[in-house]
Amino acid sequence: MDDKLMLMIPGPTPVPEKALLRLGRHPIGHRSGDFSKVMAEVTENLKWLHQTQNDVLVLAASGTGAMEAGIINFLSAGDRVLVGCNGKFGDRWADVAKAYNLNVTTIEAEWGKPLDPEQFRQALEADANKEIKAVILTHSETSTGVLNDLETINRHVKAHGEALIIVDAVTSLGACNVPIDEWGLDVVASGSQKGYMIPPGLAFVSVSEKAWNAYKTSNLPRYYLDLGFYRKSAAKDTTPFTPPVNLFFALQATLQMMKAEGLDNIFARHDRLKRATREAVKALGLPLFGSDNCASSAVTAVAPVSVEAEKVRSMMKSKFDIALAGGQDHLKGKIFRIGHLGFVSDRDVVCAIGALEATLQALNADVTPGAGVTAAGRVLNAG
Ligand SMILES: *Cc1c(COP(=O)(O)O)cnc(C)c1O
Repeated sequence: MDDKLMLMIPGPTPVPEKALLRLGRHPIGHRSGDFSKVMAEVTENLKWLHQTQNDVLVLAASGTGAMEAGIINFLSAGDRVLVGCNGKFGDRWADVAKAYNLNVTTIEAEWGKPLDPEQFRQALEADANKEIKAVILTHSETSTGVLNDLETINRHVKAHGEALIIVDAVTSLGACNVPIDEWGLDVVASGSQKGYMIPPGLAFVSVSEKAWNAYKTSNLPRYYLDLGFYRKSAAKDTTPFTPPVNLFFALQATLQMMKAEGLDNIFARHDRLKRATREAVKALGLPLFGSDNCASSAVTAVAPVSVEAEKVRSMMKSKFDIALAGGQDHLKGKIFRIGHLGFVSDRDVVCAIGALEATLQALNADVTPGAGVTAAGRVLNAG
């Protein structure tokens, strides 16, 4: 049936009608007073969402553009950096850093396991000459559904004193607590098609004063992603280059929705959706990929044994119009991922779990009828 697609992937995420309608408006000039009003409101509400007084700059890019900006504005060729790698997006950080000839040391964990904060502590304590200029990691590793212990790793970075902490919060911002000022996170990257509830196209970078100090001496080549331009323009409620103005209209609407819901309620909703999904998947007899104590609030990875992951995905799509995500790199065909990020409600999870159960039955898996929805309902009813 036309127009019934339900996105249960960790980006792009579903977009509420209020935002969709704004995408269909006539664009306005980006040097107009009207646009500046939108920009001013969006900038203020982005700071609210990021829990920070730091600059939160908006780029016309995908999330990776924000990651690249986070590196090239604050570091210099040959700088030593520690990069946490336990999935596709951690690996991407290392790739970007290497592309700019940084001296990269990776701290790795098996995909599906969290990074070990102790390894960061040891590497940072061993750095007596303060050669490590930045610690770079992914908070919610979307490829595996693992949430890394950013708070503890950040504490070790603060004890080091010199290094910046640069974070990919693409699927944690707007899903779980990322208190930028309280923790003192220097650079935080995110993207519009995740917790922001609007389509792909905008990327966000928050920048601390400490990072702006590093900007003064950073010598990596940059132009379009030179955050100095964006900071200067943002102070005048404008952008250095032509922004996707309709995405700004949409973002204005979704930030208003988020403020009305409140940060604590948003985090509680994502936590509830996560727990309902995980309990339902267990009740359906499917092994989760990654343990409960390090589970991302944005996405749940499932590693089925008795059925093929890709068969589940293709039947969910063809029979129920529900899009699930597959595995990436060596996890291709081994896992499927259920996104529950952004504009997702209790009803969506009940629906997806019901469809998953029907799919498993069609694939002759051994499922107890009703087990998935019952388990999800138990969590959702308890709140
Ligand atoms: C989606 C995502 C990104 C950004 O990917 P783009 O395709 O460049 O938007 C980065 N990191 C994580 C953890 C993500 O989930």
